[in-house]
Amino acid sequence: MRELVLTEIGRLDVREAPIPQPGPGEALIRVAATGICGSDVHGYTGENGRRFPGQVMGHESSGTIAALGTGVDELAVGTAVTFNPVVVPAEDAAAFAGREQHHPGKHVIGVAKEIPAAFADYVVVPARNVVALPDGLPIELGALIEPLAVAVHAVRRLPAGSLARVLVIGGGPIGQSIVIALRDAGAGTIIVSEMDAARRELVRRLGAETIDPADGPVADQLRAGGGLADAALDAVGITPTLRDAFTSTTLGAPICLVGMGSPQVTIDAFLVSTEERSLIGSFTYGSDDFADATEIIGADPDVYRTLISREIDVADADTAFSALAAGDGTPGKVLVRFDREEETR
Ligand SMILES: [Zn+2]
Repeated sequence: MRELVLTEIGRLDVREAPIPQPGPGEALIRVAATGICGSDVHGYTGENGRRFPGQVMGHESSGTIAALGTGVDELAVGTAVTFNPVVVPAEDAAAFAGREQHHPGKHVIGVAKEIPAAFADYVVVPARNVVALPDGLPIELGALIEPLAVAVHAVRRLPAGSLARVLVIGGGPIGQSIVIALRDAGAGTIIVSEMDAARRELVRRLGAETIDPADGPVADQLRAGGGLADAALDAVGITPTLRDAFTSTTLGAPICLVGMGSPQVTIDAFLVSTEERSLIGSFTYGSDDFADATEIIGADPDVYRTLISREIDVADADTAFSALAAGDGTPGKVLVRFDREEETR
């Protein structure tokens, strides 16, 4: 089979490898499509230090079950599936159900460097992490479930009753998924702050209003256009965007930090202390969020196709990564298709 190896920082190569075999309790998935995550791009460039040479990345993926290890009775070969990449040890799975991301020994398939992940024709995952796709869902849309689960979880981190007027900072793939998750959660007005015109256009198609932070302070633009926000989600995660979140929300507002743009940020302390805003972290999702994201996508597949900007062949992956790293203006998600040229494999 083919796999995409991060041979060195800034270089992905297609390598031939034996098809892995599922062990007890595992499933082998024939990959159809795997999405390129911002974290993969920042790993490719070495910026985030969270990917390593020799690694096969890929954690946003869909495909069909090709084989099952012993002891797996609840799945069937041929089923269209995605997988939840957040893995907790089998013996703790029940105790951590719904809050898997809080397990101190969890690992994330596609991030953990020693585990070959889904930028490959086949991937082995624990059967308990496999999630069947809704009936009739075009298979490539299954690769969008993981980023939507990130968004579903982030929105749920905000207190109920804070969603009348919500600011989303960053209109990239996670910001786009957050708009959809906010809509599903019954949010009122959703305003996305995004510098890129193509991304603003995309999130407007999803029902959000937009502002361009280059047009002036985000807080001033909000005041001029209906008022400060009751809550904010920062899908970028750098000092200037967090500052926008704090200054563009009402006193006492909750702010959810989901973007990981920088390992360190500076915060204006009085916007937290004297004005009683709270900063809430969000990382990945629990299995309930993941299941709910699967349902949300199944209910309206056409909306999700809006999020896909390009679908590329395996051989073009390195070119796509370096273009994304250079900021080529791609507004939405790029999917690597492993199910093309099927007849020659
Ligand atoms: Zn991701």
